[in-house]
Amino acid sequence: MKNVSSVINWLGKLGWGIILYSISLEIGNHISEFNSPKIESRVHLEQLVEEKKKEIGFTGNIELIIDPIGFSSKSYKKDKSYYTIVINKSSLNMAMLNHELYHVYQGHCDNTGPDGIKGFPNKLKYFFYYEPKTIIHTLRNSNH
Ligand SMILES: [Zn+2]
Repeated sequence: MKNVSSVINWLGKLGWGIILYSISLEIGNHISEFNSPKIESRVHLEQLVEEKKKEIGFTGNIELIIDPIGFSSKSYKKDKSYYTIVINKSSLNMAMLNHELYHVYQGHCDNTGPDGIKGFPNKLKYFFYYEPKTIIHTLRNSNH
């Protein structure tokens, strides 16, 4: 019985750890969006993506979707060298664009598809490595 209760106790701590970690990621994203310049239109968004691609030397195709009702933005690999970035309208700012572009050109999306991240190990890698790395990058570069 003692072993069972210590396992339950440990799982409880792990659960709280994951919840607190998720909240920290969310806070990091919100801080990077705070005071980040807004992107005014679809044309402006497309121009910015083209400029960034040239600056980085990224040659893949990026489809851009502005989601009028969604709450979170995402990026995924649609095809061989074809990526999709979905940004919800309320987060249409430089920080969010930099965040999603970073995922794309750093190869974080290479094991993703329209249905999300493929496989549990990739989900873990995304959650514990790619996402915090991207948030730190965005915090440093959110205003340009
Ligand atoms: Zn992300």
